[in-house]
Amino acid sequence: MVDDLLGITGASDLENRSQAVLDACGEILGQIKSRAGEASGRDGTLRPLDEIQARLGDTRRTICLIRSVHPAADLREAAERCERMLADFASELALDRDLYEAVKECDPGALDAEGRRLREHLLRDFRRSGVDRDEATRDEIHQLHRELVELGQEFSRNILQDVRSIRLDGLEELAGLPDDYIAAHPPGEDGRITITTEYPDYNPFMVYARSSSRREELYRAFRSRAFPANIAVLRRILQRRHRLASLLGYSSWADYAAEDKMIGSAKAIGEFIERVAAAAARRSSREYRSLLDRKRRDDPSAAEVYDWEKSYYEELLRIEQYRIDSREIRPYLGYDAVKAGVFDFAARLFGLEFRPAPEVPRWHEEVEVLDVLEGGSLRGRIYLDTHPREGKYKHAAMFPIVHGVRGGRRPAAALVCNFARPESGGGSALLDHDDVVTFFHEFGHLLHHLLGCETDWVQFSGTSTEWDFVEVPSQLLEEWAWEPEVLQSFARHHKTGEVIPSDLVQRLRRARDFGRGLQVRQQMYYARLSLDYHDRAPETLDVERLSRELHSRYSLFGFVDGTHFEASFGHLEGYSALYYTYMWSMVIEKDLFSRFRERGLFDPEMARLYRRKILERGGSLDAADLVRDFLGRDYRFDAYEEWLDGERSVQ
Ligand SMILES: [Zn+2]
Repeated sequence: MVDDLLGITGASDLENRSQAVLDACGEILGQIKSRAGEASGRDGTLRPLDEIQARLGDTRRTICLIRSVHPAADLREAAERCERMLADFASELALDRDLYEAVKECDPGALDAEGRRLREHLLRDFRRSGVDRDEATRDEIHQLHRELVELGQEFSRNILQDVRSIRLDGLEELAGLPDDYIAAHPPGEDGRITITTEYPDYNPFMVYARSSSRREELYRAFRSRAFPANIAVLRRILQRRHRLASLLGYSSWADYAAEDKMIGSAKAIGEFIERVAAAAARRSSREYRSLLDRKRRDDPSAAEVYDWEKSYYEELLRIEQYRIDSREIRPYLGYDAVKAGVFDFAARLFGLEFRPAPEVPRWHEEVEVLDVLEGGSLRGRIYLDTHPREGKYKHAAMFPIVHGVRGGRRPAAALVCNFARPESGGGSALLDHDDVVTFFHEFGHLLHHLLGCETDWVQFSGTSTEWDFVEVPSQLLEEWAWEPEVLQSFARHHKTGEVIPSDLVQRLRRARDFGRGLQVRQQMYYARLSLDYHDRAPETLDVERLSRELHSRYSLFGFVDGTHFEASFGHLEGYSALYYTYMWSMVIEKDLFSRFRERGLFDPEMARLYRRKILERGGSLDAADLVRDFLGRDYRFDAYEEWLDGERSVQ
């Protein structure tokens, strides 16, 4: 139904199609209301309402994808307009009192368990939207939603469009970088080389470039993106979120946002962050000390390690202590081989097959479309858009397109990444092992979306579970990207065809533990920033100062004056106060993975249980219940703490 939107080329077509969806939804809404007072229940109210959610949701998700990846700027702009229009309708729907009454009237006694859960969730969401407030308040809420959509778009757009760069004087300043990176960055006519703040440029440069001053320059450029523009936008966003939360009867946006998550409250988020930060304290200090000791071999008078030196010295330590050099692995990780490896893995664990569907419309010729089959029958469709382009979303993410349900709509989703592109004139695009981990991660989301269709309701399909559970399936899949058996199934030298040596994989696994404590502390800086921006009255808040203070509290690397991370912290838009969710999910993930470790990573019974008890159920049960059903007990912190303490850390 929305598939053909993905091949659309005219901006006005996009707007007309969005309008048509709204008209259709409006008509269904009218029918629900016309039956008000009758005993309409499941078929008269819940079913058509779910249909509205399906149509509206599919269209919104597709438009969001187009806005994020379409090569034509006018289409991306039109998508922004459509997004506002659709969000506006969704906001009206959430504040529609007649609809609320109709849902309330559905007799729970006449519904099955899933139907009752749906009714409860709908009523909860209506109340959280403010449907039971007076008319003036509802108008203000609606206006605030509208402004927040626009501000959110502006915040993201400012980050997306602000690509900065530094200019190197010549090839000698690329010393340390891998050959394929150097080949992809030839000097211009003036002999100078441009390095941008885009990830495929930025990340390797921070790891490998020997020139510390150039790394510092690039780091400063990277941490100045969207500054100063986004500071003002951020202030407006925080102010409006706070106002919205107050209107709805909450003391802060953070409390509002946490209420329907596993964690439950802002206070619990704060406690969780402190618990994790404390658990990582000893290890991170030890790791920092190792970096400083290493730096002192280059510069005996060094008193600290700067933030732009972190990745560089981490890499040096990995090379020297674990004899592992990321550049040594890259030749084994050709993009096509990795992709085939991920597909084979999904076939082996879940019996899925992927078949190219070249006739299906898509937004760019590089996008690959594949049908997903199981036992010969069609289960869904995926779109792979995996290389960077100008104007394209910069991170890696799974974008749901169609949410599937039992015996009905088939799921579709796009996997959007920014892996290095094959050099022009052939050659193989080589990935870092980190990219392979990212591929598995996003594929974990994709599988959750594709398989999570054992529900009657779109509302509960796939990844529509509690937000702080969403990263569990993706983080779990990352574990396989470190397994020798998995890596050796696809990683072959792109020139010689040699399988990645066991010894290299073993060294890679040993080296991965280093830096874990530092990374967790860094994550807690992000999580605390996200929380603290939203747990107080915005009038008292100095967003720049708070960012600086929290950086100093959680990161072991000194704050670099003149940088403004908060201006390009894209998650503040989508996640608001909830950045903690990544680490929260990881606590659960480590617990689940301990079962696979006991029983074997390819144990068919474990794969079946995990699929049946967790993935397939989507959001049709509380996440804590899914986990209890799988583990046979509640989740615990133990496996995570063991992972964090790690026996193999550097002394
Ligand atoms: Zn994820």
